[in-house]
Amino acid sequence: MYSQSEQCIPAKRALITGITGQDGLYLGQLLATKGYEIFGLVRGQSNPKIAMVEQIIPSIQLLEGDLRDLSSLIGAMEIAQPNEIYNLGAISFVGLSWKQAELTGEITAMGVLRMLEAARIHTQGDMSKVRFYQASSSEMFGKVRETPQSETTAFHPRSPYGVAKTFGHYITINYRESYGALACSGILFNHESPRRGFEFVTRKVSNAVARIALGLQDHVALGNLDVRRDWGFAGDYVEAMWLMLQQEELHDYVIATGETHSIWELLDIAFSRINIENWQAYVRQDPRFFRPAEVDVLVGDASRAWKELGWKPKVGFRELIEMMVDADLELERSKLR
Ligand code: GDP
Repeated sequence: MYSQSEQCIPAKRALITGITGQDGLYLGQLLATKGYEIFGLVRGQSNPKIAMVEQIIPSIQLLEGDLRDLSSLIGAMEIAQPNEIYNLGAISFVGLSWKQAELTGEITAMGVLRMLEAARIHTQGDMSKVRFYQASSSEMFGKVRETPQSETTAFHPRSPYGVAKTFGHYITINYRESYGALACSGILFNHESPRRGFEFVTRKVSNAVARIALGLQDHVALGNLDVRRDWGFAGDYVEAMWLMLQQEELHDYVIATGETHSIWELLDIAFSRINIENWQAYVRQDPRFFRPAEVDVLVGDASRAWKELGWKPKVGFRELIEMMVDADLELERSKLR
C-alpha cells in the first residue's frame, strides 16, 4: 500500500534508443520494475522486432525515430518528455564495422551527437533538465596502454566500431563540459546473455553447441581461439547504467568483471554442458572469422563503480555460458515441436 505522498510522485520517464537490442530489453525490464514510464525508439513502421519488444516489456510505448534523423529524435523527446535518456542504439558488431565503416560512423558516432543535440534543443539549452547515458565500450581501449583498463586509461581503438564509440564518448564529455549536460558514459566490457545476437562469439558457440547436441549441425567454424575477453552478464550491466544516472554528480565508469577467459575456455564450458569433453572434432578454424586488426587482452578495472555505485557483477562466466547453452537448447527444441 502506498502512502498519500508516494502516490503524488509522478513516475519517472525514460527514453531508450536501441530498445530492440539485448541491452535495451534488459534495461526496459529493469526500469519497468522500478515503475518508470518507458519509451523506446524504433526504426521503421513495420520493424519485425516490435512484437517481441512489446511482449518482453508490456508497458512500453514505442516511438518511431532514426539515429540518422535529428528531427525524428526531437519529435520523440517531445512525446516522451524524458527525465532520463539511455542512448544504446548503435551498429554494434565489430566484425561488420570494417565492411560498413561509413554506416558505423553515421549511427554509432554521429547518432550520439544527434541525440545530444536533440536533448539540447528539446530542453531549450538547459541540459540539466534531463539525464543522459551514453553506451561507451571497452573496444575504445583496443591496443591497450595498460592492464587492467580503468577510467583513466588512454584509448587506442582498433576497428571502425571502436573509433566511432570513441567519438561518442568524447562528444558526451564535451556536452557535459560545454553545456553543463547531465551526461555520462559507461565504458562497458563485453556483456552477453541468451538475447545476444548470433554473430557474437558467445552466442555463436552456445547456439552451435545446442544444435550439435540435437543433431542439427556437426561443427562450428570460428576465428582466433586465443583471444581473451572480460565477459559479463548483460542483465547485471544494465543495472550499472541505471545506477550511473541516479548519482548526484555524473561520472564515467568502467563496468567489467575483472576476469578474462579465452575462447578455449568458452568452448570447454559450453561443450561440457552437453557432456562432450573432447570437442576438437566439432570446431574448425576459418580465416573468414579472423579480424583485420585484433584488440589486445581486454580486462576492466571496475573498482570505481564498486566503490561509488555499489555495483558488482552477480553472474560468473561459467554460469553465464551455461545459461546461454540451456536457453539455446530450449530455443532449438521449441523449433522442432
Ligand atoms: P567483440 O569483442 O565486440 O568484437 O565481440 P565478439 O563476440 O564479436 O568477438 C569477441 C572475440 O572473439 C574477438 O576477438 C573475435 O576475433 C573472436 N572470435 C573468434 N572467432 C570468432 C567468430 O567466429 N565470431 C566472432 N564474432 N568472434 C570470433
